[in-house]
Amino acid sequence: MPETFKVELDTPAYKGSVSCNTGLFINGKFVDAVEGGTIDVINPSTGKLLTKVAAATSKDVDIAVAAAKKAYKTSWGLKVPGAQRGELLMKLATLLEANIDEFAALECLNVGKPWSESRGFDMKLTLQTLKYYAGWADKVHGHTIETNEQKLAYTRHEPYGVVGQIIPWNYPLTMVSWKIGPALATGNVVVLKPSEITPLTALKFASLVQEAGFPPGVVNIIPGYGSTAGTAISMHPDIRKIAFTGSTLTGRKIQEASAKSNLKVVTLELGGKSPNIIFDDADLDQAVKWAAIGIFSNSGQVCTAGSRIYVQEGIYDAFIQAFSEAAAGLNTKTGDPFSEGTIHGPVVSQTQFDRVMSHIDAAKAEGAIPFIGGERHSLTEGFFVKPTIFTNCTPDMKIVQEEVFGPVAAVVKFKTEDEAIEMANDTNYGLACAVFTENVSRAVRVSNALEAGMAWVNCNITTEYNVPFGGYKQSGYGRELGAYAIDTYTQVKAVHINVGLKI
Ligand code: NAD
Repeated sequence: MPETFKVELDTPAYKGSVSCNTGLFINGKFVDAVEGGTIDVINPSTGKLLTKVAAATSKDVDIAVAAAKKAYKTSWGLKVPGAQRGELLMKLATLLEANIDEFAALECLNVGKPWSESRGFDMKLTLQTLKYYAGWADKVHGHTIETNEQKLAYTRHEPYGVVGQIIPWNYPLTMVSWKIGPALATGNVVVLKPSEITPLTALKFASLVQEAGFPPGVVNIIPGYGSTAGTAISMHPDIRKIAFTGSTLTGRKIQEASAKSNLKVVTLELGGKSPNIIFDDADLDQAVKWAAIGIFSNSGQVCTAGSRIYVQEGIYDAFIQAFSEAAAGLNTKTGDPFSEGTIHGPVVSQTQFDRVMSHIDAAKAEGAIPFIGGERHSLTEGFFVKPTIFTNCTPDMKIVQEEVFGPVAAVVKFKTEDEAIEMANDTNYGLACAVFTENVSRAVRVSNALEAGMAWVNCNITTEYNVPFGGYKQSGYGRELGAYAIDTYTQVKAVHINVGLKI
C-alpha cells in the first residue's frame, strides 16, 4: 500500500498540513509500482529529501492504458453526455478551490516557487482553466454542410480515446489542468505522467479526481522517469494521441516514437528563446518592469521567458541601469518561498542549477559581461542563482542562441527596426516575443514580422486560459488553452447521409 506524505507547516504564508499519496493513481486507486521502484522528491529550497514516490515503468503504463481503454468503452467518451462530463470537471474545480492554499503550499515545497507566484498565479490559472473547460464539455459539436438536396452532410468532433500526456516541472499543477481540462471535456481518457522532479501536486490532484467521482480509469496519473514511463507512453500502441510539454530534445524523441509505433497524433509545446525588443520610444519604466517579469519570474524557468533582450541604442544605457537595479532588488528578495517578501526562489534541482551555471560560465568564456549576477546566491542551502544580466552579447553567442531556463538575460544593442527583427528571428525557436514601443504602427508591424506563436506588446508572458498558447518552428505545434485546444483533442468525422438519391 502506498504511503501518504504529510508535513505540518507553520510559515508566514501558510499554516497547516500538506499531504498527498505517494503511489501511482491507476483505475481510480493508488497503487505501488509493479517493479517497486521509487523516485526521490527533493525540496529545491533546501536540497533535502521531501519524500519518495512510486516510479512507473512500462508495466504500470500497460495497466494504466488498459484501465483507460476500458473506461473509454464503458463509462466515458461520447457515451457520457457532455453536460455530465462538464459537471464532473466543475466538481473537480470546486474541490481544488476548497483546498487551494494547500495545493499552493505543496507546489512551493516541491518547486521552490515563492508563495506569491504559486498562490497568486499558478493556482489561479489552474482553477480558471478547469472551470473554463468544464464549460466547454457540452459545447463540442460539428457542423452541417450544404451539398445538394439529396444529401445530408455533417461533421462530428469525436475524441481520440486514450490520450497520453507528459508534462514538465516548471508549472506542475497548471500543466495538469492545461492537459486534463480539454482532454476530458472532449470525452478522452488520460494517462498523465508528471515530471519525476515535481510529482506531488499531480498526486494530490488525483485524490480529488477520486473524490469528485470520476469513473475509474478515466484519469490515470503515474509519476515515472522519462526514459522508462515516458518512452512507454510514447510507444504504446493503444494510445492514440500524445500531448507533450517539455524540451525540444524530448519532443523530437516523442515524435520519433510516435512514428515508430502507431503514428499517434502528437502535439508539442517545447522550449523557447523569446526575444524582447525595446525601442527608443518605449515607456522605459514599464519596459524595465515587464522585461524583469519576463526573465526572472519563476527563476527564469518559463518556456516563454524573454531571455534575449534587444535594446535600441538611444535607450540602451538607461535601460541597462534600470534593469540591473530591478535584478539587484530581486536579489534581496531571494529565499524561502514561504517567507514574507520572497519573490525569487531557487531553480528546481541540482541538475538544473548545474545546467544554468554552465550556461553562465560559457557566456563568460565567450566574452559576454555579467553586468549583474552571474553566480550562485549567497544562500548556502538550496539551488539559488542570482538574477543575471549579460551585456556585450553578440548574436552568435550560445547565451543568445540556447535556452538556459534560468534567471539569465542576454542583452544585445541594436540600431534599426529591420536589424532587430532579423536578429530576433535568427533562432530555431519560435515560441513567443515581446515588443515595447509607444508607436502603434511599429507595434503591429514588428509583432507581425516576428516568427513566434505568441506576441506581447507592452507586456510580457501574461497568459490567459482562453487565449491560445503554443509555438512556431522548433518550439512545437498544436495549441493549448482556449477553444484551439478543443480542436487538438478531437478528430473530425464527416458523415454523408443519402436522403433521396436512387441509383
Ligand atoms: P524534459 O523534456 O526533460 O522533460 C519533460 C517531460 O518529459 C518530463 O515528464 C520527463 O520525464 C519526460 N521525458 C523525458 N525524456 C522522455 C522521453 N525520452 N520520452 C518521453 N518522455 C520523456 O523537460 P523539462 O526539463 O522537464 O522541462 C523544461 C523544458 O520544458 C524547457 O525546454 C521548457 O522550455 C519546456 N517547456 C515548454 C513549455 C511550453 O508550453 N512550450 C512549457 C513548459 C516547459
